[in-house]
Amino acid sequence: MSYFSDLGLAEPILHALASKGYTDPTPIQRQSIPALLEGRDLLGIAQTGTGKTAAFALPSLHRLAADMKPRKPASCRMLVLSPTRELAAQIAENIAAYAKNLRLTVDCVFGGVPVGKQARRLVPGCDILVATPGRLLDLIDQRALTLSRVEIFVLDEADQMMDLGFIHALKRVANLLPKERQSLFFSATMPKAIADLGKQFINNPVRVEVTPQASTAERVEQFVTFVNQAEKQALLTLRIRALLADGKLDRALVFTRTKHGADRVVRHLSAASISARAIHGNKSQAQRTAALDAFRQGSCPILVATDIAARGIDVTGVSHVFNFELPNVAEQYVHRIGRTARAGADGEAISFCAPDEKPYLKDIEKLTGIKLMPLPLPEGFLAEAAKLPAVSRKPEEAERDARRDDRDARGRGGDRGSNRGGGQGRGGQGRGGEGRGAGPNPNRRDDRSPGGRAQGVDGRPRDPNPRKVDDRGPVGNPARAERGDGPQGEKPRSFRPRAGGGAPGVGQHRNKVRRAI
Ligand code: AMP
Repeated sequence: MSYFSDLGLAEPILHALASKGYTDPTPIQRQSIPALLEGRDLLGIAQTGTGKTAAFALPSLHRLAADMKPRKPASCRMLVLSPTRELAAQIAENIAAYAKNLRLTVDCVFGGVPVGKQARRLVPGCDILVATPGRLLDLIDQRALTLSRVEIFVLDEADQMMDLGFIHALKRVANLLPKERQSLFFSATMPKAIADLGKQFINNPVRVEVTPQASTAERVEQFVTFVNQAEKQALLTLRIRALLADGKLDRALVFTRTKHGADRVVRHLSAASISARAIHGNKSQAQRTAALDAFRQGSCPILVATDIAARGIDVTGVSHVFNFELPNVAEQYVHRIGRTARAGADGEAISFCAPDEKPYLKDIEKLTGIKLMPLPLPEGFLAEAAKLPAVSRKPEEAERDARRDDRDARGRGGDRGSNRGGGQGRGGQGRGGEGRGAGPNPNRRDDRSPGGRAQGVDGRPRDPNPRKVDDRGPVGNPARAERGDGPQGEKPRSFRPRAGGGAPGVGQHRNKVRRAI
């Protein structure tokens, strides 16, 4: 079956796909759609970028449309849970596009924006609801929503949910769902803790596994430059400047380990007249939306991000991914470079490896089975670096940055995307924590190297037990934790939606969603 038309999907859905220019299903779509059309449960091991949204959305829309029912107040027929608001907005936007020729309504709710409006929108009920867990429970607690009429339940990015401390929220949701339903459970990885969680949702599932690692890696040229931490900034600026001058860079994502590190990179690039913006958990929703929009539209070609913030962001035309710091969990590397070379395009991933990061590089090469190509420092690097404009920082600012980095990296506001299982604790009260779990983590230690990474006695960076994603979940209330919306977990912030919208694409998305009615 190599065409969508062979899969038995209804005509209005095929038309919507055709208008998006999709003719061939991706492997996960080929494997999932027939079983889902039969009403089977599904266990999908796949990450974003594989086409999994359409894999679960298309057959679900087909089934819902084939059995149209009057909408019931404060309820939905299909519920999709997503760990981050960006991803939730993106999923809702995609579903709305696939549903554009159907009389089904799609809505999306997430934290970080006032709950009242969302509650009001839910009064008449909707057909498909995409939600982040904390906000979902908030709405349920306010009696603005009941899950008693859910026919199809999708849990997306389960491993990320666990990392972000949503385990208790998910268990609660599991108890609120009707027994009679179809369930789909997706995760990029499937360690035992995730598989156990899956058992609470799915029954006799079809198992579908796609391994994007190989296919992603095949299309991405992967380089590594060995460079001292202190010289990375100059190297990044010079590399980006050269690529822009040669017209070789369309859009680049730069990954940093910490939020303040991301801001610093933006300051340096801006000082060199390179337009860059940062996206991370300390940014307000409006700032993140603006940064993503500018990046998508091409007015700002460089987006500097932490792992959690970038997770699931789907922007086509990313030609380069820079790993300003190597992630300390090898799988995160695969997620990062999966941001480029999407939709069949080629891409380049360039990693900067400081001496204390070499063990991470080894882990990455072991996981991907690929040896990163060494890319030497540019000719005359030191002389060129010396010519770059200085970014002045008062000593107290430097100290403050160092303190913040230290705090970030210890898990208070750190980038849990690269510290899986680390740093979960108090739900989201942490100052600007990206996950909900800002707070002390008993598994972490503070014996950090000058380079800022925790080290073991052998000098090897200490792995904060990344695979141990157990249910240490948030001690706090998940709904409260997500008020800044959990995964991005900031404190509640004043949020001023753009005309007609909110999160990235949500402005358009909400309109589109409403148009899909
Ligand atoms: P996802 O894994 O759902 O985030 O999808 C990744 C990207 O692939 C999104 O931009 C989708 O719109 C796109 N996509 C999904 N299915 C197809 C398909 N069959 N053909 C081409 N692009 C697709």
